[in-house]
Amino acid sequence: MSPVQRHSPPSDQKYWDEALETQPRAAWDALKLRLLQEHLAHAYQNSPYYRASFDAAGVHPDQVKSLDDIRRFSFIDKQILRERQLAVLPFGDLVAVPERDIVYISASSGSTGVPTASPFTAQDFEDWMDYEARQFWSSGLRPEDRYCHSLNFSLFVGGPCVLGAQKVGALSIHAGTVPSERLLTIISQFQATAIWTTPSYAWYLGETAVKQGIDPKKDLNIKRIFVAGEPGGSIPETRQRIEALWGAEVYDYYGLSDIFGSCAGMCEEKDGLHWAEDHILVEVLDPKTSEPVPEGERGEMVLTTLKKTARPMIRFRTGDIVTFTSAPCNCGRTSIRLKGVHGRLDDMLIIKGVNLFPSDVESIARKDHDFSGEYKLIVERVNHLDVLTVEVERSNTFAGHDEELAARFNGHLKSVTGATATVRILPPDALPRATHKAKRVEDRRTGVWG
Ligand SMILES: [Zn+2]
Repeated sequence: MSPVQRHSPPSDQKYWDEALETQPRAAWDALKLRLLQEHLAHAYQNSPYYRASFDAAGVHPDQVKSLDDIRRFSFIDKQILRERQLAVLPFGDLVAVPERDIVYISASSGSTGVPTASPFTAQDFEDWMDYEARQFWSSGLRPEDRYCHSLNFSLFVGGPCVLGAQKVGALSIHAGTVPSERLLTIISQFQATAIWTTPSYAWYLGETAVKQGIDPKKDLNIKRIFVAGEPGGSIPETRQRIEALWGAEVYDYYGLSDIFGSCAGMCEEKDGLHWAEDHILVEVLDPKTSEPVPEGERGEMVLTTLKKTARPMIRFRTGDIVTFTSAPCNCGRTSIRLKGVHGRLDDMLIIKGVNLFPSDVESIARKDHDFSGEYKLIVERVNHLDVLTVEVERSNTFAGHDEELAARFNGHLKSVTGATATVRILPPDALPRATHKAKRVEDRRTGVWG
């Protein structure tokens, strides 16, 4: 069935695919093992890169008897994707189908170096849209909704996710990234009930509306906001403030340019993100030792595709620091849930020996309503030690002393992370507002011993 063709259960049905979504954990594992065996065999038979890689590691797909056997295979990472793409133009030799079978490619934003292309066959694309529709359904999107897709369409893997909403049967508005005034007009004119954007932009857009005399809660009809691309959507304090601004429910989604536009999303319980477990196998590893960490602990997420035939991804190191749970969700779905994306390994700061992510600071700045919620981190090196300055704005309603507010912030920071900082209190609206992806860390360190 075409992704743009409506294919949805009755609106009062809770699940998109009940048998799959509520199956026992053992059934998930059996399904994943079967898919993994088939997928590794496909990669070995059809991708020159994987054939050489498996042979070099002395492993063969036939030897895979349990999910743990994935650990016998070598890792890949972004750098390998780039190198192989340049070595074998145009898409690299991880590709495992003839080019005539490829119908779509996305490319990652590639802020550092060559953008990498992510190819899909027609079947890969169908599988992806079926998953997007399932995820939208779990977040409550229904054929009665008017869905405004406010993500970039230009080679961005988030663009086509709008077809998942269309597959649900929602009226889908392909808005893309337009100026905020224009977007507010579109939302208002069509009385959109749902929108997808980044968390910073959802906030910015809401504040822009207020400045124009529009109350998003009363004057607009948005009931659901899907967010992705930044940790904010899984930070309860950030989510709740966006929800209060819009009078809407916020659902966090997680995507990866080299795999799917979204690989996980919140159900209506909003307690972690249900993972696309029949499409992508997850490992959570200690970034230093590459050994698995116990469930619930922070580690680097390493992913293996289970179905995407155009370019299999076997043990891709994402650089994202995450936690997962396999505990049952109140919604009845049994897939594992991504409980937090704490940041990129690249984003992790080490302040006097303490690991700290910008998302930790964000949760503090947004929990306490004497702060506006905007923040900035400045990292400098003084006498060979990294020191942190946090700039936070006091809220419009705060009437006390800045010194007390700074001390309070530092107390929260110490108890949450173990780190301390110089805290500078700024007046409301002093910090620049983010439009799309927020840049809230200024690194003033120069060289290792600078
Ligand atoms: Zn759930």
